[in-house]
Amino acid sequence: MGNEFEQLEIIADFINTHDERMRYEGDPGLELLSTADDLRTWLLKNGFILKQDAVSEEDLALARNLRGGLRAAIPNNIHDHKEAGFQALNRAAGRFRFAYSFSEASDAIEPVDAQGRGGLARLLILVFRLRENNVWNRLRVCTAADCQWVFVDRSRPGTGKWCSMKACGNRAKNKTYRERAKSMG
Ligand SMILES: [Zn+2]
Repeated sequence: MGNEFEQLEIIADFINTHDERMRYEGDPGLELLSTADDLRTWLLKNGFILKQDAVSEEDLALARNLRGGLRAAIPNNIHDHKEAGFQALNRAAGRFRFAYSFSEASDAIEPVDAQGRGGLARLLILVFRLRENNVWNRLRVCTAADCQWVFVDRSRPGTGKWCSMKACGNRAKNKTYRERAKSMG
């Protein structure tokens, strides 16, 4: 399972390239994939493309769509009510093409497209494998509305609510405490 958690961390990192943690009221968050080159760097670092592969503006748009779809498909995502469950993810996934090959030794599924689009398709294949192996539910989004950081829950029960108990967990508890104290007058 260790290796799968590591792979899930990569998916979490991809989704967190739109960092939605609020630093002030109305903060739109930090966009870490501002340019095609940002995406190229990310894909290369995580082994989805090769050094010579190019990444286009179109790939960047596809990546952001895919990222939104993946965030909406996180099992405990209570923040994303715009689109229920897998609709956005399926729409983003529909933009990629895959080829299957079968042999005695092993079967394979590979992207039809090369370059940046191929890299994103490889990321999608990884998502497929993680879901198939039932580890997807370990991907969680922080319950704190002003955080929404995506993390991998490695705890035994796998029902973690906060990205960090120290920060978000205690903050939520204090808030509940304050509200209760207020209502008690
Ligand atoms: Zn948090």
